[in-house]
Amino acid sequence: MMRFFQSLSRGGAAALLLIAGCKTAETGEPPKPLSADADRIHRDIAWLADDQREGRGTGTAGNDSAAAYIARRDEALGLTQIVPGTYLQRFTARSAEMAHEGHPEGVPSQNVVAMVPGTDPALRNQYIVIGAHFDHLGRSSAHASDPDAKDAIRNGADDNASGTAAVMELARQFAARPARRSIVFASFTGEELGLLGSQWFVEHSPVPVDSIVAMVNFDMIGRLRNDKLIVYGVATAKELPAIVAAANVEPKLVVSAVGDGFGPSDHSSFYTKGIPVLHFFTDLHDDYHKATDDAPKINAVGEGRIVGMAERVVRAIADRPTRMSVVRSAAPVGSAGSREGSNTYLGSIPDMSAGDVPGLKLSGVRAGSPAALGGLEAGDVIVNFGGKPVTDLYSYTDALYAHKPGDTVSVTYLRRGERRSTMVTLGKRGQ
Ligand SMILES: [Zn+2]
Repeated sequence: MMRFFQSLSRGGAAALLLIAGCKTAETGEPPKPLSADADRIHRDIAWLADDQREGRGTGTAGNDSAAAYIARRDEALGLTQIVPGTYLQRFTARSAEMAHEGHPEGVPSQNVVAMVPGTDPALRNQYIVIGAHFDHLGRSSAHASDPDAKDAIRNGADDNASGTAAVMELARQFAARPARRSIVFASFTGEELGLLGSQWFVEHSPVPVDSIVAMVNFDMIGRLRNDKLIVYGVATAKELPAIVAAANVEPKLVVSAVGDGFGPSDHSSFYTKGIPVLHFFTDLHDDYHKATDDAPKINAVGEGRIVGMAERVVRAIADRPTRMSVVRSAAPVGSAGSREGSNTYLGSIPDMSAGDVPGLKLSGVRAGSPAALGGLEAGDVIVNFGGKPVTDLYSYTDALYAHKPGDTVSVTYLRRGERRSTMVTLGKRGQ
């Protein structure tokens, strides 16, 4: 998953929908529970997150090696190639940020794409994309939460070997038992650099974009704790809340269904194209974007349960007689105003481990950033930003993005329990 402050959608938490007890509106037989293979999931994560892959940074040998691994699996499963002659969708990964860091020419990289054709002649020209990014930070500290670890390998076991393994496991399940519609399996590169692989995919789609009826994304699903699963995007099609609820069979997961179809991962590229999306996520943790996000910390049994639920969701969508009803949203659900403030920059580094702290605890501030110039430092807890109370990451991001670069705002924070205020002049991301 991209660093939150690159693109965290506004108001994501405001759109919590309660889906427990929702009765399914779907017709036909209930899908049979299937069990995903936790051992296989764990082996795939361990391979992808091994030091030999050097953190799968986009444009590195480790990233290419991971892509080849996924492609070999697609071939072994007998999946259909939808890019002529290959499972690789090659392109040059390029971004304004890479230009800023001295690589305007970009780097060659690749998505991995394959398909299980649908069984229904009337529906097989419609597609559901199951996706996850397989790239991670490599040895770069640029988006790391532990910049002090310098060029240590960030293996990204949860972020996002876990999602990649889920896509491979679902490919196995659908190859064994295809659905009525065709299922495309897409592993994206360049996500951590700004959703580059998924953006390339939707702009150069190997299947017609308007024939993609849904996209189901997995990013960080390897840390199931207390059975708590977050599913974003349920408000992007009218039928999704009921489909998601019906797929959560005994023993049930504790699902927080969130409406928002925008967010800091690859589903956002598809929702921007008007495609209903779901995004599965087992929440942040202290190892997020650190060298300590390693395979032994993965809950593979928990991930297997999530994959099982996701398979039921995908089958329900893929076997429907009709397409779902898209619910488009110009701005993220639950937010007010436009996204024009989303390049506003403070330079704070959130402490993702501080779950219970009311406010936004900082693990640090970027040198020379507006936050640093305003006197903020590691350990401070922001409780008010520009007159708006800050209770968590979401309310903070809402408050930040309500302002433009150049605005001067008051920030109230707690330092060792003492309440303080300062003024900061907000900057612009990338400058
Ligand atoms: Zn990430």
